[in-house]
Amino acid sequence: MTNPPLVLAGGAVFDSEARLFRSGVDVVCRDGLIEQLAGDAPRPAGATVLDLTGHYLLPGLIDCHVHITSTGEPNDLSDARTDAPPVRAWKAAANARRTLHAGFTTVRDLGAAAHLNIHMAKAIDQGLIEGPTIFAAGMGVTMTGGHGHGFMAREADGPDDVRKAVREQLRAGATAIKLFASGGVLTPGVNPRSPSFTQEEMAAGVEEAHKAFRIVGAHAQATEGIKNAIRAGVDSIEHGVWLDEEAIGLMLERGTCLVATLTAPHVMVAGGADAGVAPYAIEKSKQVREDHIASFEAAVNAGVHIAMGTDQGTPLNRPGENAQELLRMAEHKLSPAAVILAATAWAADLLKAPAGRIQPGLGADFVVLPRDPLGDIEILARPGEFAAVIRSGRIVRSSPALAIAPAG
Ligand SMILES: [Zn+2]
Repeated sequence: MTNPPLVLAGGAVFDSEARLFRSGVDVVCRDGLIEQLAGDAPRPAGATVLDLTGHYLLPGLIDCHVHITSTGEPNDLSDARTDAPPVRAWKAAANARRTLHAGFTTVRDLGAAAHLNIHMAKAIDQGLIEGPTIFAAGMGVTMTGGHGHGFMAREADGPDDVRKAVREQLRAGATAIKLFASGGVLTPGVNPRSPSFTQEEMAAGVEEAHKAFRIVGAHAQATEGIKNAIRAGVDSIEHGVWLDEEAIGLMLERGTCLVATLTAPHVMVAGGADAGVAPYAIEKSKQVREDHIASFEAAVNAGVHIAMGTDQGTPLNRPGENAQELLRMAEHKLSPAAVILAATAWAADLLKAPAGRIQPGLGADFVVLPRDPLGDIEILARPGEFAAVIRSGRIVRSSPALAIAPAG
């Protein structure tokens, strides 16, 4: 799919390094990439020009932890194998569209039954369906009986088997890898406080992933599991419910990123009982929530790398509502500018994604806002008010109030 060049003219453009908006810069996009940031340079012939006067231009948002094939209905993620595969795929396509229309132009999907996330990433790349760029882990890798087994993870035991399980995901086309370092909330009978894979098992998986230039996210709630994962060399700790001082010190030393997913337990505690979420999952969410928030705040205060992730797809954690995590991070110690960076530049750094900043050579992915999000961060959670969403230089949607004209 080739689109005509696109010029985003007259808007205030977010500068990720200076953490402010700059005026008087036009953004010229071609072949899906940002080509140049120009003052008054001539516009390319045949370009579509979007007049963004009075608007604010952010890089497209990035969610580093989703299960985009799940609707977020109470049992949708854990029941993944009961839907017929085509039904599952149609639902997943709708989820992908919602996610993109809410301004999320890139996501990392950390586990789906039957590698549906990998198939969907390819369908989006081919233009068959509308959605964000997906870094897809295929199935997660967990110990026998560990968290995620039976719905989104392949069981493996011992370093050699973990190695093989990771290779299987790579063979299937995985562009990220997910390991389970501890128990979790959604698998019945599994305790989130218990570590699962040993450091040796995870190190074997990390080695295979890094050989293939893929990053590794470790589901890690229990303190011991978190430390095993960091020492094994994973790139991100997912959830990080029980971080202690040593774990935070190790993350700083190794440059390990925290993807907290504060939204996942929050929405289960807030609305789970009325919505019919399994009582064991609500009970476990209550047990983790306070410590989770305390760990997040301690990590932020210590200067741990933070990237935004929701765990979208868990009960009541719906596609298109991803930006609620931004508001939650803002409630818990992150400044508005840092919240934006966690969902753009810092997320791109974790994923090694050619996106997340408004810079020549990176993907032409943008959210256009009618107000300054540094003054009103909540605008990001109201996608209905966005003026436009653009992915790979193509206007996904735009408000009728925006003037769009071919270049003269
Ligand atoms: Zn998850």
